[in-house]
Amino acid sequence: MRSETQIDILLADPHLAPELKNIAQKVKNSERITFDEGVLLFEKGDLGYLGTLANYIREKRHGDFTYFNRNFHIEPTNLCVYDCKFCSYSRLIKQRAEGWELTMEDMMNIVKKYDGQPVTEAHIVGGVLPQYDFKFYTELFRAIKAHRPELHVKALTPVEYHYIFKKAKLSYADGMRLMKEAGLESMPGGGAEIFHPEIREKIAADKCTGEQWLQIHEEWHKLGMRSNATILYGHIESYWHRIHHLEELRKLQDRTGGFQTFIPLKFRNKDNQMSNVAEVSVIEDLKNYAVSRIYLDNFDHIKSYWAMIGRDTTQLSLAFGVDDIDGTIDDTTKIYSMAGSEEQHPAMSTRELVDLIKHVNRHPVERDTLYNVLTDYNNYDFSAEEKEAGFIALPVINEGIN
Ligand code: SF4
Repeated sequence: MRSETQIDILLADPHLAPELKNIAQKVKNSERITFDEGVLLFEKGDLGYLGTLANYIREKRHGDFTYFNRNFHIEPTNLCVYDCKFCSYSRLIKQRAEGWELTMEDMMNIVKKYDGQPVTEAHIVGGVLPQYDFKFYTELFRAIKAHRPELHVKALTPVEYHYIFKKAKLSYADGMRLMKEAGLESMPGGGAEIFHPEIREKIAADKCTGEQWLQIHEEWHKLGMRSNATILYGHIESYWHRIHHLEELRKLQDRTGGFQTFIPLKFRNKDNQMSNVAEVSVIEDLKNYAVSRIYLDNFDHIKSYWAMIGRDTTQLSLAFGVDDIDGTIDDTTKIYSMAGSEEQHPAMSTRELVDLIKHVNRHPVERDTLYNVLTDYNNYDFSAEEKEAGFIALPVINEGIN
């Protein structure tokens, strides 16, 4: 294994600081690193060192496999009762004219638009509004499953669930059970931001707390169900806050094993109340992927969003612990373009995504939501499909905003 040789070279380096060598040895032995060592990685680990460790773990778990899935996105509304300072997407209710509010029929029309197309997942997440309540969403999930039973419903985050359950006077445990009964199959990772109250109260004071976010995921995992997790990094938080966030996730994962994927989300500063905060560099993006891969030893997957960080950084991320890319897109999400991403109209066909992965010598694999392998694209011949369709129609993608 390439990465094994690289870590051995690192361990033999007489100039490597003893504390960094100690961490490298732990990684090689599959031992867990401590909180302080996590902070040290951010403070003292250079890019080459971090990449070597993260890639070692990535290749040990997945070899060259690089996963993607085909989904489509429904964003019910961009109006929101909350006022997160970093959010470029939402409009407060007083700005209603600038927003959209989809009806049940609108949403089912989006689902029907993909009839006959090879998508495996509906990803539903948006702003928080009173009319999108317990009754609305349980009816929506039931309607989607009745229309297309095999379509996986991945929907809403603890931010919405906390609001919905409070209004419906339901406990988290009962609420999540009833959502499952209505057809919910997994939860995206949004709304996590930074768990520590010192930061959370400054950037997202009024929505669910970090503790409540974790409790809702825990209740969902207790039902035997899976979910993802995110972090919003690169604004006013310190490295300590980032490791605190990862530590909370690692502890919950030790208890439940319910998380599948960790997705670092980069803070973008366009058109929000934190536009005065500079964005971090690509170097910081790659360090953050790598430290996440090293610290979260009980998470299977680390994912990057090309629509958010761009295509080049996505390719680089595959050498810094990332094994999953989201994904093929047909411009169905506004979350990143409204936050200032370079990709203003993100669109990528399966073939382009496969090429992007293969150009950095990785092995493209289409998966379903639960990481069952659907198609191995390493030696896939696109010519027959392209001739028949004239093009490859591709929907897909993205994680939640809240
Ligand atoms: S991040 Fe989510 S909860 Fe916060 S304002 Fe934006 S849409 Fe609302």
